[in-house]
Amino acid sequence: MNRGCIAVGEIKCDSCSHLIEHGERYLLIEEKEDEKSRFCVDCCLSKGYAAYVEEKKGELMLTFFPARLDSREAQKDKI
Ligand SMILES: [Zn+2]
Repeated sequence: MNRGCIAVGEIKCDSCSHLIEHGERYLLIEEKEDEKSRFCVDCCLSKGYAAYVEEKKGELMLTFFPARLDSREAQKDKI
């Protein structure tokens, strides 16, 4: 289960060790009950966990995906 969150206090990215500062957005990935990973926006973008999606006024909004894009593609192939 992936969730887009806003950092409360300082959190370290589990991928690049970048410090996610208070108020910044990050992605919380819960693989198992006790296995949680936190990824900064840059890592989410490079791993395909998030993307900038254009809104009505031409503004870019950061959107976190519930699953990896490539696993979505894999699901499509099964159907
Ligand atoms: Zn990172």
